[in-house]
Amino acid sequence: MSAEIIDGKAIAADLRHQLEKEVRVLSDGGIRPGLAVVLVGEDPASMSYVTAKERDCEKVGIYSRDIRLPVDTSRETLLKLISDLNSDEDIHGILVQLPLPEGLDEEEVIRHIDPAKDVDGFHPESIGRLVLNLDGFLPCTPHGVIKMLEASNIAIEGAEVVIVGRSRIVGAPLANLMFRKAPGGNATVTVCHTRTKNLADVVRRADIVIAAAGRPNTVTADMVKDGAVVIDVGVNRVDDSSRPRGYRLVGDVDFDQVKEVARAITPVPGGVGPLTRAMLLWNTVESAKRFQEGPRTV
Ligand code: NAP
Repeated sequence: MSAEIIDGKAIAADLRHQLEKEVRVLSDGGIRPGLAVVLVGEDPASMSYVTAKERDCEKVGIYSRDIRLPVDTSRETLLKLISDLNSDEDIHGILVQLPLPEGLDEEEVIRHIDPAKDVDGFHPESIGRLVLNLDGFLPCTPHGVIKMLEASNIAIEGAEVVIVGRSRIVGAPLANLMFRKAPGGNATVTVCHTRTKNLADVVRRADIVIAAAGRPNTVTADMVKDGAVVIDVGVNRVDDSSRPRGYRLVGDVDFDQVKEVARAITPVPGGVGPLTRAMLLWNTVESAKRFQEGPRTV
């Protein structure tokens, strides 16, 4: 039997609808959530991500400030800009689009963002809070995966989860979220990477497989247990001369084959991606709410 296709676009649209109402309430109370999006250079993929983020803000009523800087922007200029945004009362979230051009230290730039405005959830304080199970901003893609599973009524608690990929932005934080003692957690989690032996055997144990390797066909049908749920985070360009752009996007999962054994599966595009974008809006609204409530104590 063919798997249920989890519709990330529809789940993200529901979330945006909910956020739109919250933005209205906040704005009526005098705080319109504001997001600053900083793009250094003209990387085409980054430019299209940034444009999409601005469009998303507009849809839900979030104020977005688009700051585009030339590729040769100095460290000092960028850090000064972030300092200004840190103290700008109209801005509740700061996003610096990665990757930064060569010569700029991403770690330093992220550390410079006030953790209270770290809506990407990449600041060491945000990551520390996640690991310690304290209130804080969750990184958008891992948080989006949890929201997607919850919206699809897929039980995480007690599930055997295998994540393929251990990156700092996807695999590692997602593993922490899924095993922590909190709603959306309490799973038994295994994290795989390029040194994992017998990847297929490990993945076959999973009730929920999450592919975040950045390589097409990393997860094939023979690796998936009958009835498992498969979440494909990967986004890869493969050449396709039949497309006007000369390529198409695929995930890390062999979608056509795996959907014949899985219970539910996400497509690429239209799966995790829309949730990642929605969770950025979510964090920006959360941040505005916290500003309204005053400084946190823990
Ligand atoms: P990354 O930093 O390159 O990390 C990839 C991880 O996968 C690494 O831990 C690597 O292991 C592991 N890996 C790679 N090939 C493997 C293999 N054959 N077997 C087992 N493990 C393997 O990538 P990322 O930033 O996490 O992104 C992963 C994918 O998700 C990319 O396609 C990216 O475009 C996509 N992505 C999508 C969204 C979205 O919103 N949909 C958001 C973020 C990322 P090692 O650690 O041993 O190298």
